[in-house]
Amino acid sequence: MYIGDIEKKIFHTSQCEKVKEINHQTFFFIEAEALKEHYHYCPYCAAVMAYYHQDRQNIDDFVNDYHLSFHFNNQDGTIDVMTRYSRWKLYASDRKLSLYHHNEFATDFDEATKIKDYHRQHVHKESIIDYLQYIISHDAFRKNNPYEPPQTMKDRHLTKNSKKYRKEQRHIRKIKGKITARKVNELLRDLHK
Ligand SMILES: [Zn+2]
Repeated sequence: MYIGDIEKKIFHTSQCEKVKEINHQTFFFIEAEALKEHYHYCPYCAAVMAYYHQDRQNIDDFVNDYHLSFHFNNQDGTIDVMTRYSRWKLYASDRKLSLYHHNEFATDFDEATKIKDYHRQHVHKESIIDYLQYIISHDAFRKNNPYEPPQTMKDRHLTKNSKKYRKEQRHIRKIKGKITARKVNELLRDLHK
């Protein structure tokens, strides 16, 4: 059960201490109902923020030390994390914290994810700090191992058989043909001199 603040258009869990500040309230059974009505997540009781409030000081220090961008997104209830090299989202549901990585390529599509343009990273940690450490090591790894799109070879193959490629080849043959014809004409003319 969620409690919506009609004036602020924010929804809370029933246990949130901010609930007592609400003047006009409404109720939602599931998050999706609130989101459909364009309500935003509360920064105090959104599931992912419970992990933040537990360890706030350490997280803030880490974020400062590594110059990370770290912000609660009240539209999708995630924490957006950005480094110089990568973009992530921390999300919590059913008391499980998970990490989503921004798609480097459009083909990185993950059916299971509800977060547009992000895929679930296959790594499991217990705390935000552990995930932030993972992000830093992922950046270090990626810097040394630039990512090659897996479809590159296929693309080359397709390009070679594409209409555009065939048209180009026809054009080249035509030009070569013209050059040859001109050379033959020149030779014939020279012979008749
Ligand atoms: Zn709340």
